[in-house]
Amino acid sequence: MTQRIPIIGGNWKMNTGLESGMNLASCVVDGVEACDSCEVVVYPPYPFLQSVESVIDASNVYLGAQNMWHEASGAFTGEISAPMLKEVGVSSVLVGHSERRHILGESDQLISQKVALGIEQGLQVILCIGETLEEREAGETLSVVPAQLKAGLSNIDVAHMTSIVIAYEPVWAIGTGKTATPEDAQTVHAAIRLTLSELYDDATAQQTRIQYGGSVKPDNAADLFACEDVDGALVGGASLSADSFTAIVMAACDS
Ligand code: PEP
Repeated sequence: MTQRIPIIGGNWKMNTGLESGMNLASCVVDGVEACDSCEVVVYPPYPFLQSVESVIDASNVYLGAQNMWHEASGAFTGEISAPMLKEVGVSSVLVGHSERRHILGESDQLISQKVALGIEQGLQVILCIGETLEEREAGETLSVVPAQLKAGLSNIDVAHMTSIVIAYEPVWAIGTGKTATPEDAQTVHAAIRLTLSELYDDATAQQTRIQYGGSVKPDNAADLFACEDVDGALVGGASLSADSFTAIVMAACDS
């Protein structure tokens, strides 16, 4: 069976200040120093990227961005491009986070353009997908999630799939304290992997990492990571505490 290295992302969203962000990064660096069997990425707010990079520079923690624009440069007031992110040390980018889909109105088409540009620019792209509560209650999870996956990857050929990570984040579980049960998460992750094998091939599906996101905490992380198709987590709230985030990373290392 393919051995997939778990990946744990800390999405700080629009939180921390400069000093508290650097301090958080420093504590995460210390906390995960001994972790050699999973990948750790932090996603600070844009203005703090360079400062956080100076803190994590010589560590095993990677720098990520929470978003980017789908063009490499030009007249896009207020937007941030992939080349700019790379210049300050970013190696990973979140695309299609549910807050961008549902609060900022990002469409599947825009998201697919961002995924394509991120890959073209040599970034690791975390493609976030997930159903709303309404869709879940209507029994549409296993149609909505694969459809978002197919749309997001519509411009990506098989050769670039090693730079793609999928984050399954049920919208109803993000920031709500409600977590999908390990069984629910496994069912959707398996469906995502099946869709990847239909889109590409079985080897690609087996290699691609699928993170779970949605109120992951130290006390539910190990059960989620024990699921066959769960390859780590994208963590929001709990990533703002170095102790909680480190405990989640350690649970992934032990999985
Ligand atoms: C997220 O922002 O991707 C997330 C999963 O948030 P939380 O862990 O707070 O639910």
